Amino acid sequence: MRKYDKREVKKFEQVQTGVYCDQCETDIEQTPHEHFYEVQTSHNCWGNDSMESIREHDLCSMVCVTKHMHDYYNQEDVQESFRYEIVREDKSEIWRD
Ligand SMILES: [Zn+2]
Repeated sequence: MRKYDKREVKKFEQVQTGVYCDQCETDIEQTPHEHFYEVQTSHNCWGNDSMESIREHDLCSMVCVTKHMHDYYNQEDVQESFRYEIVREDKSEIWRD
C-alpha cells in the first residue's frame, strides 16, 4: 500500500526569458522591427529518421533571414531535400513566463 500526503515542494522549471536572434544574437524585443521570423529547417536525407533533422530558429529581420538562409544552403553537406520554412510573427506574440 502506498500512502500519500500533501507537502509543499520547491522545484525548478525551465522558463522562457527572452527570444534572441540566432543570426546576430540581438534580443528580438529590443529591435525596432514590428515582426520577427520563426524558421524551421529540415531535410529528408534519412527517411523516417528525418524528424531528427528538424531545427527551430528565431530571426530578428529579413536581413538576418537572408544571411541565415545563405549559410544554411552553403553548408558543406547540403542536399536537394534541405527545406527552409519561414513564418513571419508579430512581436506582440512573444511572451515571457
Ligand atoms: Zn538578427
